[in-house]
Amino acid sequence: AQLDRYCVFGNPIQHSKSPAIHAMFASQTGQTLEYSARLAPLDSFVPSVQQFIAEGGKGANVTVPFKLEAYALANHLSERAAIAGAVNTLTFSDGVIVGDNTDGVGLVRDITENAKTAIVGRRILLLGAGGAARGALLPLLAQQPASLTIANRTISKAEDLVQLAHATKTYRGEIEAKTWQDLNGSFDVIINATSASLQSEVPPIPYTVFADTSFAYDMMYSDGQTSFNRYAEQAGARTRDGLGMLLEQAAEAFFIWRGVRPQTAPLFAHFRTKGSV
Ligand code: NDP
Repeated sequence: AQLDRYCVFGNPIQHSKSPAIHAMFASQTGQTLEYSARLAPLDSFVPSVQQFIAEGGKGANVTVPFKLEAYALANHLSERAAIAGAVNTLTFSDGVIVGDNTDGVGLVRDITENAKTAIVGRRILLLGAGGAARGALLPLLAQQPASLTIANRTISKAEDLVQLAHATKTYRGEIEAKTWQDLNGSFDVIINATSASLQSEVPPIPYTVFADTSFAYDMMYSDGQTSFNRYAEQAGARTRDGLGMLLEQAAEAFFIWRGVRPQTAPLFAHFRTKGSV
């Protein structure tokens, strides 16, 4: 019988770690499958997916810049993908395309389980309101933080996330949108979901927000320390970058497809020492 086939679509895609991650998950759990990286032309994401389905593909991950197109393509969406407006995990079965978003749950699992940091009852500051922040919204609120403050360069995008949060109705804490300049008070946990670290920049937030911060998380992953985490450490916070989130979102996708939850800790050690980011 043919191997079950999966892939990741992106553009560019050659540096993706997903094929190596899923191959390691498969061998660890004794599953037999094939997982490849596929470069989709910028104007041909949908035909590329259809081609993969025609070849017998069972599921796919989706990365930059196709997460919105994947959302539009799906016939069925999980609630967290519907709220995020973005899809990173597609499952193909019986002609139906199911879309999910595992980025946010990957973030929350990395913070709460791997970094052993509670979100429940804490004051959380989320920096950024792009795709990664949207994906994180519902999983973060499900942890019932005391408050969630979303700060973004473009305030309207932070306000949109606050509206989405109100629509979920399950969250009982406070939620507010701020610009960098309006930020005041201090926070227990600060999560950087901006792409500022890619340019070695730090969002221009007042240093005082770190006064009581015990933990800071940068979704970007890097072998060296990210500029945001360096800033947070100077303020006395414990820090973590997004490698664990990357592994956890992959583990959740693997679980959706295969019904088995792989362990991420051995991969964390592998990718960290390999220096492959
Ligand atoms: P988007 O392009 O969707 O959003 C970018 C966000 O960053 C926006 O809020 C934008 O603000 C803000 N921003 C960009 N440049 C700056 C700057 N110089 N100063 C302040 N704010 C800035 O990106 P994503 O949400 O997809 O990704 C964000 C980060 O998360 C990236 O670093 C990415 O690598 C990481 N990521 C990590 C994952 C993981 O598994 N570890 C998974 C997904 C993402 P504005 O709205 O004003 O433009």
